[in-house]
Amino acid sequence: MVEEIFREEPYRRETEARIAAVSAEGIVLDRTVFYPRGGGQAGDAGVLVMRDGRQVAIADTIKGGGEGPRTILHVPAAAQEALVEALHPGDEVVARIDWDRRHRHMRLHTATHLLCAIVPHQTNGCSITAQYARLDFDMVEPLERETLERELARLVAEAHDVRTVWASDEELDAKPELVRTMSVKPPRGLGRVRLLEIDGVDLQPCGGTHVANTREIGALRVAKIEKKSARTRRVVLEFG
Ligand SMILES: [Zn+2]
Repeated sequence: MVEEIFREEPYRRETEARIAAVSAEGIVLDRTVFYPRGGGQAGDAGVLVMRDGRQVAIADTIKGGGEGPRTILHVPAAAQEALVEALHPGDEVVARIDWDRRHRHMRLHTATHLLCAIVPHQTNGCSITAQYARLDFDMVEPLERETLERELARLVAEAHDVRTVWASDEELDAKPELVRTMSVKPPRGLGRVRLLEIDGVDLQPCGGTHVANTREIGALRVAKIEKKSARTRRVVLEFG
């Protein structure tokens, strides 16, 4: 099993790691700070630094392992074949993410939680990249750009703390106020569920990476509001 450092330490930029496997699909490490594409959030890019200083450029990170134990595949960028061939199981490397790109993911991802708190409807699609965040709401009412931008700016300026909380099914049952702000219902029957809490604003199950306080998101603009189908309104956020 791979140690997923990004879960508890989203601000960690690098870690020492050992190569577990190298295949055509990608490189598996025993631990990593690279977030694998999932939950709408793009996978991380970065480098694996070898003992002799050579660097393998990583273009993307995805989940692997199929039905077996979950692994994380670090997918090399184009023209890295010769470097990848020099990697062997057991080798030590430093795994270092492209922090600027990841931080943009974290800021935009946290912004989508704010949007969920502002628009009281279920979502049915989500995509978070370094350039934009796209969120699809299951709703028929029109949305107003000015209102969304004003409310987003308010929640960013109010500097709400962001934290991960764990709750059991019993705790969720016993504390209905915990579920009140939830925009996505937590999965049940797994024993405990990982929730992302934006203090006083939003609470929902989420496994992505987020900033520690909403002020870190910075200025946002609503780049697009689209009627994607009769029952779907799409909102695209970009940095302001
Ligand atoms: Zn999230």
